[in-house]
Amino acid sequence: LSTTGNYFMEKPTTKFSDVGGMQKLKNEIALKIIQPLKNPELYKAFGKKIGGGILMYGPPGCGKTFIAKATAGEIDARFITIGLHDILDMWMGNSEKNLHEVFKVARKNTPCVLFIDEVDALGASRSDMRQSSMRQIINQFLAELDGVKDNNDGVLVLAATNAPWSVDSAFRRPGRFDRVIFVSPPDETSRKEILESLLKEKPVEKIDAGDIAKLTNGYSGADLKALIDIATESKLEESFAKGSLQPITQKDIVKAVKQHKATTSEW
Ligand code: ATP
Repeated sequence: LSTTGNYFMEKPTTKFSDVGGMQKLKNEIALKIIQPLKNPELYKAFGKKIGGGILMYGPPGCGKTFIAKATAGEIDARFITIGLHDILDMWMGNSEKNLHEVFKVARKNTPCVLFIDEVDALGASRSDMRQSSMRQIINQFLAELDGVKDNNDGVLVLAATNAPWSVDSAFRRPGRFDRVIFVSPPDETSRKEILESLLKEKPVEKIDAGDIAKLTNGYSGADLKALIDIATESKLEESFAKGSLQPITQKDIVKAVKQHKATTSEW
């Protein structure tokens, strides 16, 4: 993991198979991002322009960052993530230069999935920033995205927001974030898959993920992860106390459900 300024770069090993549910999004990413990278000639033969990104929106904790990371894992690419709210805070006055830096690093490290979180921060009115400065930053961002001066081949852009209504409409033009996809809280089948994925490498005993999926309506992927973390924690303690490994059981997770409630209900 490298950190420079306010972004992170890593080479993830997460794969689509680690991501529970989200089938529609997986298909869309395969078609728009993975296949063009693997078969550029085919796309050219059909006269189809490669490029453009996907904008994901929906409640927090439902896997937007996670699937972006898995996209990088699928194609053996680097993964850079930036949160625009933080960037604007930290880079006040210097945002344009720093945005350029991030894109420059991505272009140097292709193939690279550039994940831009909180893309609504660009355009939202801020008391601490003049409207004209914000417009300037948006224009700079669009120029980087369009690859006006530099070649963006191999830079794959995914963006996310919890507030799609605040995203500047210029971002959604063709060739930019021209696919907008709602990432919903996981349904029962997806919750079962997410639980299975989260428990895959843990010592477990007699767990029925389907039953827990039924008990966790409204739980996001992050909420489900919290349940497994709570159960893991208590089993670790118990294992220490007893001096032998105590696997996670159905009862532990049901107990965790009582402690950690769903966070997505307001959506
Ligand atoms: P935010 O809007 O807060 O950034 P997000 O939608 O990006 O939220 P993630 O950070 O991707 O949510 O999800 C949080 C964690 O929950 C992930 O690191 C992962 O462990 C787990 N998780 C979420 N969705 C899934 C999923 N579909 N399959 C497996 N794990 C998941």
